[in-house]
Amino acid sequence: MPKRVDLRSDTVTQPTEQMRRLMAKAEVGDDVYGEDPTVRKLEELAADMFGKEAALFVTSGTQGNQVAIAAWAERGDEVIVEAESHVFYYEVAGISVIAGAQPRPIVGQMGAMDPEDVRQAIRKRDIHQPRTGLICVENTHNRAGGTVLPIEILRATASVAREAGVPLHMDGARIFNAVVASGIGERTWANEVDSLQFCLSKGLGAPVGSVVVGPRAMIDRARVWRKRLGGGLRQAGVLAAPCIWALTNMVERLAEDHAHAKVLAERLANMPGITVNLETVQTNIVLAELTHEDVMAEPFIAELANNGVLATAFGPRTVRFVTHKDVSQADVEMAIDRIRQTIAHFGIAQ
Ligand SMILES: *Cc1c(COP(=O)(O)O)cnc(C)c1O
Repeated sequence: MPKRVDLRSDTVTQPTEQMRRLMAKAEVGDDVYGEDPTVRKLEELAADMFGKEAALFVTSGTQGNQVAIAAWAERGDEVIVEAESHVFYYEVAGISVIAGAQPRPIVGQMGAMDPEDVRQAIRKRDIHQPRTGLICVENTHNRAGGTVLPIEILRATASVAREAGVPLHMDGARIFNAVVASGIGERTWANEVDSLQFCLSKGLGAPVGSVVVGPRAMIDRARVWRKRLGGGLRQAGVLAAPCIWALTNMVERLAEDHAHAKVLAERLANMPGITVNLETVQTNIVLAELTHEDVMAEPFIAELANNGVLATAFGPRTVRFVTHKDVSQADVEMAIDRIRQTIAHFGIAQ
């Protein structure tokens, strides 16, 4: 029986032995001078995979999104974002602080903004109004429960953006989960957007790093923003080496995480005091709603942690579970067992 199962996030994965070996042997140089061959190799690989001109290695998904936003939007612009999106919800007001732009949140459905709402939100040229500098979409959508952005919605959004001459950025922190769940390749997704950020340190299991892909001129501006934020790294090849390995070896494995999430979701849906909207369980995230009036998410996850299962409170009655490469089938079974015990602890029968 495993002692502890960590379902807080797919960011908690440990680097594999192979990744550590590659880190130790990585060929390195000063990347601020453009001389780190391993970082260059990662950037070229990423640009090629996504069918974009250029790529930029960054320390985190947040840094990737923020340098991309700052590269597109100017001070005083407005940036259209989904109301529950990571760039709006979890990036410490970076849009305002770094780009100096104003976010314009639009409420989506299962994380997807209606393209007509996006069209309506684009500003007219008028001295009273900010310019719409950028539109951001998220795929998969974290707060919606790891939902895949339907490609037809993305295509309609892209056409709205093109008509208005506004660039479109995708926060694709978990784009490879969308690729594996939908069977739609990363190039096809990237083809609809001007720039895209993806994480290597989530489901793909690398210890550190994200990459932004886009047109060369935009990536050049993003590189300046990265330097301005103190994100210019020197012998960063030690970090890029496991990222290259993750990108070439860890994508297909995500299907296991999705299968584990599905089992977890289906079993939770049958427990008293819990509902799960199974429609949203498309990838590696499960959002469980606690329906018993006396049970809130915070005390629930605290008791669950006492029972050896770590999860995240995602709302007053919402608990998020994320599967990843360090969660086995046995771990999922244990988690299901311990969640059942926790429910019993709170005396929930119905
Ligand atoms: C995790 C995540 C990010 C980036 O997170 P970092 O912790 O900064 O790497 C960005 N967008 C989404 C949707 C995410 O889930």
